[in-house]
Amino acid sequence: MPEVRRARIESLTACREVMETKIIDGKAIAAAIRGDIALQVQGLKNAGIAPGLAVIVVGNDPASAIYVRNKLRACAEVGMRSFKYEFASTATEKEILALIADLNMRDDVHGILIQLPLPPHISVRHVLAAISVDKDVDGFHLYNVGGLITGHTVFPPCTPYGVVKLLEHEKIAVEGKNVVIVGASNIVGKPMALMLMQRDATVCICHAKTRDLAQFTLLADILVVAAGKPNLILPQMVKTGAAVIDVGINRLPNGKLVGDIDFNGLLGKVSHITPVPGGVGPMTVTMLLANTVGSASRLLSSAKAGQEAPAY
Ligand code: NAP
Repeated sequence: MPEVRRARIESLTACREVMETKIIDGKAIAAAIRGDIALQVQGLKNAGIAPGLAVIVVGNDPASAIYVRNKLRACAEVGMRSFKYEFASTATEKEILALIADLNMRDDVHGILIQLPLPPHISVRHVLAAISVDKDVDGFHLYNVGGLITGHTVFPPCTPYGVVKLLEHEKIAVEGKNVVIVGASNIVGKPMALMLMQRDATVCICHAKTRDLAQFTLLADILVVAAGKPNLILPQMVKTGAAVIDVGINRLPNGKLVGDIDFNGLLGKVSHITPVPGGVGPMTVTMLLANTVGSASRLLSSAKAGQEAPAY
């Protein structure tokens, strides 16, 4: 590491003051939002619309099975209908596209989710493009991705949406702040950057080929980490008083679930931090429910206005 940079890191970390770190309770925040969603679901049912989510799974990836089970359970908890479709890993793209075409037309399905990853012979691009933009509750359709650029997304992708809600709940101001995002995937890092840029943050995205990650992370007032690498972010890489959101989920050889940051090392140095588990994770599923209920609500509003649904 160049001497000047090393000196800068040392000066920023040498006289370390201890501060109180607020551990953001994602589980409690998610539970409160789910309480509101349950009320909205009941309201929609009273108005004659029972919100429904269709989940498609292809193959038998064990992690996918757990994620899908959690999503279906979450639907049941808020009184939402869910429909699960399972395909063998040998299923053809045509079969999946045919199901999606059918779900697009159904009045009782307001959200369609295809659990990723898909087997390699199935094109993720084709499958995502086939989902009606009106029902794209994961927010992965190119229309919704394009909307992120212009600030007109109908369904914000669930994980970054969950992070935004955590920041809002904790009253962590974003406008004018330096936000550094570690991870540039299509489902987390890039949409996260666009959503925070939309809220007037100054955003920097880092990825695996970023040289000297610390020179960027040290500038962050808000640091969002979504790389999938345990202990990637050490205390000396973070500015005192920053808010740190850990999206990463990693299973260690001993079975323990951890994020991407040195959680214990950062306690007492940063203003806010999310734990893993219990931070961003519960918010992701919650925002999926929020998007599905939002889709059903739009349908109701359009019906009341006598328009083709939805009008955007
Ligand atoms: P991904 O598609 O594998 O992307 C990882 C990103 O991190 C890539 O952009 C990669 O850079 C970057 N990266 C990898 N190593 C890095 C390093 N040493 N320094 C800087 N950047 C690095 O993963 P993902 O789907 O975005 O998920 C990221 C993590 O979040 C995973 O642990 C995943 O399990 C977790 N996750 C959690 C939730 C939740 O609800 N809590 C939801 C989704 C994902 P390149 O682009 O250069 O390869």
